[in-house]
Amino acid sequence: MSALDGQPLDAALQARIDAIVDRVHAQGGRVTPQRIAILEALLSEDHPSIDAIYARVRGVFPMTSLGTVYKTIHMLLGMGEVLELGLGPEASHYDGRQPKPHAHFICTNCGRILDVHLEGLDAALGRIPEATGGAAPSGRVDLWGLCPSCRAQGRVEKNVR
Ligand code: ZN
Ligand code: MN
Repeated sequence: MSALDGQPLDAALQARIDAIVDRVHAQGGRVTPQRIAILEALLSEDHPSIDAIYARVRGVFPMTSLGTVYKTIHMLLGMGEVLELGLGPEASHYDGRQPKPHAHFICTNCGRILDVHLEGLDAALGRIPEATGGAAPSGRVDLWGLCPSCRAQGRVEKNVR
C-alpha cells in the first residue's frame, strides 16, 4: 500500500521497500510512516532530487522536515541501498532503484538523467569488487551530452564537463 496516495504499490516496489524496512529493523533502527513515505518517494522515481522527495512527502506529512529527508537518505547511503549522484552546483540526485554502480547519461541542456546499460560495460563494472578486493565499492560513471528530446528540439549543449 502506498504511503503517499493509499493506492496499491507495484509488487517489485513493495518488495524492495519491505526488504529495506526489514534491514533497518534488523539494525535496531526505527521506521516511521514518514520514513516509509520517503523510501517510496525515493524508489518510485528514476533519479529524484532531495527537493523532489521532500515535496512529495510534505504533500502527505506536512510536518516533515528537510533534515528528516536528509537523515533517511544518509542512512540508506550507509546501507548501500542508494547511489548519490552529485551533479555539480545543482542539487544531488539519488538512485535507489539500482544501488549498484552503473553509468548515467546526463543531459547538459535539461538535466535529465538516463541510465546507461551496455552489456560489456555492466559486466566490467560488476568485476570491480574482485579487481580491487573491495567488497562493495561505490562509484559512478557519468557521461554528458544532449538527451534525445533536446537533440530533436535542436538545443545546444551547455555546461559541458
Ligand atoms: Zn535534455
Ligand atoms: Mn541510475
